[in-house]
Amino acid sequence: MQLALDTAQLYIPDNAAETEALARTTHLGIAAHQDDLEIMAFEGILACFQQPDRWFTGVIVTNGAGSARAGVYADYTDEAMVSVRRVEQKKAAFVGEYAAQFLLDHGSGAVKDASSTVVVEDLVRILEATKPDCVYTHNLADKHDTHVGVTLKLVEALRRAKGVNVKKLYGCEVWRDLDWMIDDDKVAFDTSAHENLQAALLGVFDSQIAGGKRYDLATLGRRRANATYHASHGVDESTGTIFAMDLTPLVTDPGLDPLDYVQAYVGRFAEEVTARFGKLRG
Ligand SMILES: [Zn+2]
Repeated sequence: MQLALDTAQLYIPDNAAETEALARTTHLGIAAHQDDLEIMAFEGILACFQQPDRWFTGVIVTNGAGSARAGVYADYTDEAMVSVRRVEQKKAAFVGEYAAQFLLDHGSGAVKDASSTVVVEDLVRILEATKPDCVYTHNLADKHDTHVGVTLKLVEALRRAKGVNVKKLYGCEVWRDLDWMIDDDKVAFDTSAHENLQAALLGVFDSQIAGGKRYDLATLGRRRANATYHASHGVDESTGTIFAMDLTPLVTDPGLDPLDYVQAYVGRFAEEVTARFGKLRG
């Protein structure tokens, strides 16, 4: 497949032919950085793991050049970090038995520039080649500009892509969890299964963890906390939960503004807080 940048890569862990590898995709994860998919989209990875009729394809939009580095990576140049992070993402794709893994290699500037269309064009090509049922990306209330930028590019790509019929689009948790959403708004994915696989998928990103940022422990801890704090009554039914914001209406209604859509979630949260005061103060 021709992508915008010559340095973009497509890795197919089981060496299937490209067209076939992409066409088998049922679940597609699109994220800003290497390791974001394993943090936020484990539901999709798990849904496809060891399932002959379901396949997860990953897309990483940026090159990871600006990532922090410490320990054995402290003296790495930007180019060396890009290379390390690519290898790490391919390790995850292999461990998670992905159908395919795209590394689009864009700078974060292209993601954050509203007038740039290169990322949208790459995503349109990928959507048309994979025709997924279910898509995972960043949620619109994330606090990382590049994350929200990827989601905005993806929404535009989904509105432009031809012959693609996405049934569900989920915005998931990385930089900021979704515990704040009112319970009726939460999509809760049960991630109790395969804790060993979860640990392995998070653990391959050594360059991110080596500096003392324990994303592996923090992510598993968040899943555990979500499961326990989701309901205040009764015993825990699951040992891991990932929350998501259902972004499907942004696909089915092309006129819906993503800002209005996320503001409505914030509004319902504000209303819930206010209503409790109304009750308690009489
Ligand atoms: Zn990220």
